[in-house]
Amino acid sequence: MNDCLIIGGGVIGLSWAWKLAQRGLKVEVVDRSEMGREASWAGAGIFPPPGAAPQHPHEQLRAKAHKLHPQWAKTLHEITGIDNGYLRCGGIYLARTAGEIASLAGVKQLFDEEKIEYQPLNPATFAQLEPQLQSVAETIRSAIHLPGEAQIRNPRHLKALFNACQHSGVKLSAGVQVHRIATKGRKATVVQTSAGDIEAAQIGIAAGAWTRDLLLGLKIESGIMPVRGQMILFRCATPVFSHILNEGPRYLTPRPDGLVLAGSTEEEAGFDKRNTPEALDDLKSFAISLVPALAAATVEKTWAGLRPGSFDGLPYMGRVSGYDNVFVSAGHYRSGLHLSPAVTEAMVALMCGEQPGVDLSPFHAARG
Ligand SMILES: Cc1cc2nc3c(=O)[nH]c(=O)nc-3n(C[C@H](O)[C@H](O)[C@H](O)COP(=O)(O)OP(=O)(O)OC[C@H]3O[C@@H](n4cnc5c(N)ncnc54)[C@H](O)[C@@H]3O)c2cc1C
Repeated sequence: MNDCLIIGGGVIGLSWAWKLAQRGLKVEVVDRSEMGREASWAGAGIFPPPGAAPQHPHEQLRAKAHKLHPQWAKTLHEITGIDNGYLRCGGIYLARTAGEIASLAGVKQLFDEEKIEYQPLNPATFAQLEPQLQSVAETIRSAIHLPGEAQIRNPRHLKALFNACQHSGVKLSAGVQVHRIATKGRKATVVQTSAGDIEAAQIGIAAGAWTRDLLLGLKIESGIMPVRGQMILFRCATPVFSHILNEGPRYLTPRPDGLVLAGSTEEEAGFDKRNTPEALDDLKSFAISLVPALAAATVEKTWAGLRPGSFDGLPYMGRVSGYDNVFVSAGHYRSGLHLSPAVTEAMVALMCGEQPGVDLSPFHAARG
């Protein structure tokens, strides 16, 4: 019998399984399709810097995760030989319209409250940071530079986690859909799947945007819902800019090899992962207006992913109330990649009977 069964092989489930296996536990991950091909693959891998003295547990997780990522990148590289592309490239938050100026003012106020380090930019200092965007600098009406913003290359990170799991002896069962978690009293007895029943002493639910139904089966009503995000991947012959450029909810993430990710939308479209021509046109115009060289770049790929959103913006993490051996970690919305190492540490500690290091009470699964 497994010590732990993790349902869902995204960044949350694979990280969780890897660290449990490193504790010497016998772990299996089941995913109904290929591991790591849902939201975790679809995301942009942007890690906004945390504040200097975070108060809320959610911000404490962000601060912890921001510190852990470079260490995880190094360890994963050593174990698997895969460089996940972790890079402290810095970010620029900018505004070109009256609406965006107002929204950026609000963002700055939040950064001030949370003591997040940033420097104001004017067109000249913007052009110093991004010399190839000289012509755009004049159109920017307000901008700040966040030196602590970082990025990761999601597909590489997932591949590294997958390999690290294999290396640690995790059983990785792709193409296995969980239908139901059967229970008796306070205990989950068996997990019913498309490949038959699986037993485990402890069960971890990490099914991303699909977690709600699994929790409903345990009579827990959660507010986890899919929020679609559409993306465009451009390929430039050589890199044109080096900082992540953020304007409102949209961004351009430059990879050092000339790829540029343009994102994203926030749409309530159920579990529909299709791109829409309107959203792609809109993203393309945004991208070209900010980096005119993208007009000549090749569109390598477009896709959409389903973020695991929640009604109050907080994740669902901890022991599932009413059950001694069922745990959940889902609903990390726009920050799942970023938060994953800290979330993993907390969940592994909890499953191993230790203090999670962060107060998990704001994230409890039965809050509706
Ligand atoms: C467009 C976009 C941009 C994003 N940008 C960022 C960003 O810049 N920074 C950041 O930190 N985060 C970002 N995110 C959010 C981040 O990707 C998610 O928060 C994170 O990937 C969630 O990970 P997960 O493992 O919970 O979910 P997923 O990666 O969706 O994994 C869940 C897995 O569970 C499996 N599953 C579901 N139901 C079952 C079942 N019944 N049985 C078996 N398996 C099941 C699925 O097949 C899937 O593989 C972005 C997301 C999107 C879509």
